[in-house]
Amino acid sequence: MLEVVHGVMGSGKSLEAIVLAHNLHNMGRPSLLLSYYKDTRFGSKVVASRLGVSWPCQVYNEKTNIPELFAQHQNPQNLERQTLIVEEAQFLTPEQAESIHRASVNYRVVCYGLRMAANGKPFPGMATLLSLADSVREITTYCACSQDKKASMHLYVENGKPVRNPDLIRIGDGEYRSVCSACYYRALEY
Ligand SMILES: [Zn+2]
Repeated sequence: MLEVVHGVMGSGKSLEAIVLAHNLHNMGRPSLLLSYYKDTRFGSKVVASRLGVSWPCQVYNEKTNIPELFAQHQNPQNLERQTLIVEEAQFLTPEQAESIHRASVNYRVVCYGLRMAANGKPFPGMATLLSLADSVREITTYCACSQDKKASMHLYVENGKPVRNPDLIRIGDGEYRSVCSACYYRALEY
């Protein structure tokens, strides 16, 4: 079963992934938490939430055979009781997303990631995951302008000025703001 959970930066995806890994651990259900190798905000091989909790992880890059990595770390027995949790899943290649979907026939896979980049375009790997997923859920958060307006876009701000075509390789939320569509277009003066 492939479950995809998406939400803008700061919506609590890492926190939820950590809670899931922790709960599975307490239930005696083995899991592997995986994150993207460039996300070293909190030190490598650990997923950390801004709220202060963390959990050990393995890391992937664009060349990683993810089902193979999972097999190396998990007991081949009782696969149906095991879970692969992927953080920063927007950096998966479409081929990796397809391989994860195939693997999800044998064990549970939960992917957390951003639906779109700061230029408003879909991440190719996430687009593939969203197409193939058995279930899709959004973690909703709201724009600073109103509790009624969902934050759905990422605005990249450099030296106080919104940037229309930011460098998409950058990661972290120091200069990204999660905003509603109205604030996004207003800031970029479309
Ligand atoms: Zn807004």
